[in-house]
Amino acid sequence: MREALREAEKAAETGEVPVGAVIVKDGEILSRAYNLVETYASSSAHAEMLAMDQAEARLGSKWLLGCTLYVTLEPCAMCAGAMVLSRMERLVIGTMDPKNGASGSVFDITACERLNHEIEVTRGVLQEECAEALSSFFRELRITKAQLRRKKRAEETSQTCEHHQQGENNQ
Ligand SMILES: [Zn+2]
Repeated sequence: MREALREAEKAAETGEVPVGAVIVKDGEILSRAYNLVETYASSSAHAEMLAMDQAEARLGSKWLLGCTLYVTLEPCAMCAGAMVLSRMERLVIGTMDPKNGASGSVFDITACERLNHEIEVTRGVLQEECAEALSSFFRELRITKAQLRRKKRAEETSQTCEHHQQGENNQ
């Protein structure tokens, strides 16, 4: 999970929502990735999807048998669905996502008896650090947005003043 957190940090540095994923097989890291939705302008460029693509390419297989995916945030429905399709053996989650999570929060795709594969799930690993990576990112984003708003307001005010002064000069 430390490695996945490191990936999440890279996402934050790129201005992406900090989510990181790492896939391990037989004690070896097969792939690592972080959220790149903004960079790729792609709603499906989630850390888990990118890590799965890389791991499948590396193994030369559509299945990730015997693999464990570590992810800092509970996967969404797309990623959890892709994990079931890939026959991922185990999923380790940092912090849960009550709004979008599909491994127990909104849905539980990873343990759905009606699907043909269930994944062994461990939740809450380095939970506080994974949650903090997200909340500090959004805190900074709010501060930046507020600063931009203040700057814009200041510019607008100075423009209005200039306009007003010009009007007075013309009289
Ligand atoms: Zn996802």
